[in-house]
This record gives sequence, structure tokens and C-alpha cells, in this order.
Amino acid sequence: MSQPAVRVRYAPSPTGLFHVGGARTALYDWLFARHTGGKFILRIEDTDRSRYRPGALEDLLAGLRWLQLDWDEGPEVGGPYGPYIQSERLPLYQEFANRLVAKGAAYRCYCPPERLIALREQQALRGEPPGYDRACRDLTQRQIADYEAKGVTPVIRLRVPTEGTTTFHDLIRGDITVDNRSLDDLVLLKSDGYPTYHLANVVDDHLMEITHVTRGDEWIPSTPRHILLYQAFGWDPPQFAHLPLILSPTGKGKLSKRKAKGPGGEEYLVMVHEFREAGYLPEAMFNFLALLGWSLDETTEIFTREQAVAAFELERISKAPAVFSYDKLKWMNGVYIRQLAPEVLAERLQPFLARSGIVVDQETALKVARLVQERITTLAEAAALVDFAFADSISYDPALLIQKGMSRQDTMRALEASRHALAELPAFDEASMETALRQLAQALGLKAGQLFGAIRVAVTGRAVAPPLFGSLELVGRERVLARLRRAEELLVAEPA
Ligand code: GLU
Repeated sequence: MSQPAVRVRYAPSPTGLFHVGGARTALYDWLFARHTGGKFILRIEDTDRSRYRPGALEDLLAGLRWLQLDWDEGPEVGGPYGPYIQSERLPLYQEFANRLVAKGAAYRCYCPPERLIALREQQALRGEPPGYDRACRDLTQRQIADYEAKGVTPVIRLRVPTEGTTTFHDLIRGDITVDNRSLDDLVLLKSDGYPTYHLANVVDDHLMEITHVTRGDEWIPSTPRHILLYQAFGWDPPQFAHLPLILSPTGKGKLSKRKAKGPGGEEYLVMVHEFREAGYLPEAMFNFLALLGWSLDETTEIFTREQAVAAFELERISKAPAVFSYDKLKWMNGVYIRQLAPEVLAERLQPFLARSGIVVDQETALKVARLVQERITTLAEAAALVDFAFADSISYDPALLIQKGMSRQDTMRALEASRHALAELPAFDEASMETALRQLAQALGLKAGQLFGAIRVAVTGRAVAPPLFGSLELVGRERVLARLRRAEELLVAEPA
């Protein structure tokens, strides 16, 4: 029998901003779909209205686009199995829940919420696991009629077998079996007419002809319930692959759901938009996330999207939890930044520079890109490296001007001579400046490092800055000359 074409879905609930854990799931779905030539479907599971968060959907779509995880069916793109937003499919779930009631595989439960709360409290007191006591499982027609006459709105619950076991095969973990007695009669349809996650998820995976379900391993306990639901409907379940946990950088505990502090008080980013705003490149993020539980081979750390697509297999996903290492991500981002063509880096830097008040044209952005490319690990770091070139004035401790082995007088003279040399240069470019200033150092009997050090402080205000001649070019001749003059004045004013 030929295998049906792969259809995988990413099925997030818009209860919060798009988290890197969710991005890893979406990425694996996408890789699997592209590897097999199948379809990647995006389905929004928004039936828990109490947890709905406005803006979450937009944030999710923006995050997926940023990572270039294009979906073949789903919100905005449509598709033959729509709608892809569960709140737009409510009548479907009601119909399917009623079908199960008609078959005897599910039943209406009229227990008031207060009774269920009291039940849970008693169970907790007795140290028992919480679970519905099935009080409504076998109501008589009469009892049902009474409840209905009183206008009590029921929920619909699945009639879970009270003996035997339920087994499913996980492509990553192998067979998983649970004792049916450990499962209670889960709610399928709530009294407000909304389905629970379980019902909507199973109905949609079936109707959308999903072949593979990949999701975080926190969903493993739900899967036996889903299997029972498939059985109740008489449907074949899809295949399941539960992805390994993502641990915090210390390896202790899950990666936080919210922005958190690390052991040294540093901030851990966890939302996709935070990484984007911090200046991570989507290509680096893609590569990094792909490695959280999967590997291309034994050794390769840096790979392209195409390589990942070609090699991706669900069976290669590891069972072991993956540690989210920020150090590794930073390193990787630096590698990707250095791989960019300077023109592309310039374009990516522009919004980050603008955020720091440095609004520049493409030509200037390119100069900045060339200066910082080897020195930054995130796009956001560039501004602080070059802000001296865009500031109206710079301030520094004049003592910094005086280099080792030089006096105040030597420094003043050297700066003045540099100013004249630079003023007279026919072209103010890196090569001409370097030649002229090296000659000058020799003529003054200074080491090049001494002269360059003094000029660097005078023009950038710091002892450590990007390469000197590129920095001078970025500052521009007029302002370089003014800053040199200002440094000479500071030295005059400086007590010996
Ligand atoms: N809506 C669930 C979530 O938020 C989907 C889990 C699944 O993929 O079945 O993760």
C-alpha cells in the first residue's frame, strides 16, 4: 500500500507570545513537510476563550514569517480543509460530540461546577489523583429528562473504558502504554458549546487528514485519550512523534515560559520576537533551533536550510532533553553575521542603528557594516561600537590621550602634526590615511601604535574602538580635524 502524502500541522493556542519552544516544534514540522514533499498546515487552537490573548496570533504569524517557515494551508493562505481557526469551526465539534453520544461512546454530564470542585477537594484530601467520578455515566432516561426540564446545560464526556490498556507507538520513544483506569471520562464539549482541546484537536487532525502529529512531550499524557477518541469515532489515528524537552542553559529545569533571569542575573530571552529585537539573524535562529533535539550528522554545527531539509528525519530526533545554550546561539549568530555580504549586513543593521538614533543612508551603513562585521555577535551590538561617529560631541578623560612612553607635550605635538597631515591629504580614505600617518610616526620618532592610540582616543573617545582608519573615514574629515584640535586644547588645559 502506498503511503499517503505527508500532512503535518503546527497547532498553537494563541495564549501568549510565540515562544522558542513552539518555534522549534513548527520548525520540525516544516522540515519534515519539506523533506517529504508534504504539506505544512498551520491551525490555530483558540477554543479556550479564558486563555485567549489578543495580539498572540499576529505575533505568531510574524515570528513564523521571520523564520521563513511558510505554511501551505492555514490562516491568511487558506486551503481546502479550512477554516483553520478552531473558533470558526464550532458547529463541527458540536456535531461530532453529539455523534458520539448517539453511539453511546460519550454521554451528557449535568454535574454542576460546585460539585466537581468539591469532588476535587475531597480527592486531594484523600491523596487521590483528581478525576471525575462518573456520576452521570449511567443516568436513566428519567434522570436525564429531569435535568433537561430544569434547564441544566450539560457537558459531553467520553465514556472511557474502565479496564484494559491503551497503547500508541511514538516514532521517537517507541510504544507507550497506559492503564485505562488511570484515565477519567474527559470532557469533550463544554457547557458553553466550545470543544475542549482534546475533541477539537482529534476532530481536526482527522478532518484535515493529518498523517503525523509532532508536538512537545508535555502532550504525551493527552495522547492515550486521543487514541480512545479515535477509537470511539472509528477513525485511524495519525502517527505521533513527541519532541524532547528544552532545558534552561544550566540543564536544570525546563526553559522558562517567560523572560527569566539566569544564575548571574542576566536576562534569558525566550520569545521569538525578543531574539529578533536583540539582533539575532533568522538564519542563525533556524540553525540553532534545528539542533535542539536533532542533528544533521555527528559533527556539523552550521548548515543551510537546504541541507537541513535534505537530511531531516523524525526518527533522528533524540529522546534526550536539549539544553538551550545562549552562548552557543551567540557564537552561531556571529558566524552567520560574518557570512553575510557586507551590503546585506548593512541593510540589516539600519533598523538597529536607527533604534539608537543613528539614522544613516545605505552608503554609510555599508561603512559601518565593514567596520563591525568581525566584531559583533548580534545586530544590536553595532550601535555602541560606532556611536562616536554620529555623536555631536564625545567626552573622555584627557589622560587617556597620553600613550605609554609619551609626555603631554609629545602628545600635543603628535596630534597637531596628525591634524595637519590629515588636512592636507588629497583623499580622505583609509589607505591614504594609513600611509600618511605611518610616515608621520616615523618622522616623529614614535611607534605607529603610540600615534594611532592618541588619535584613536581623540577621535573616538575610547582606547578600544573598531579599526582606526575605517573609524576616521566614518567620522569624516571635518569632524576628525575638529576633534584633534579639541584634544590638543584639552591637553593644554591639563595640568602637567
Ligand atoms: N494547541 C496545542 C498547543 O498549544 C497543540 C498541541 C498539539 O500539537 O496537539 O500546543
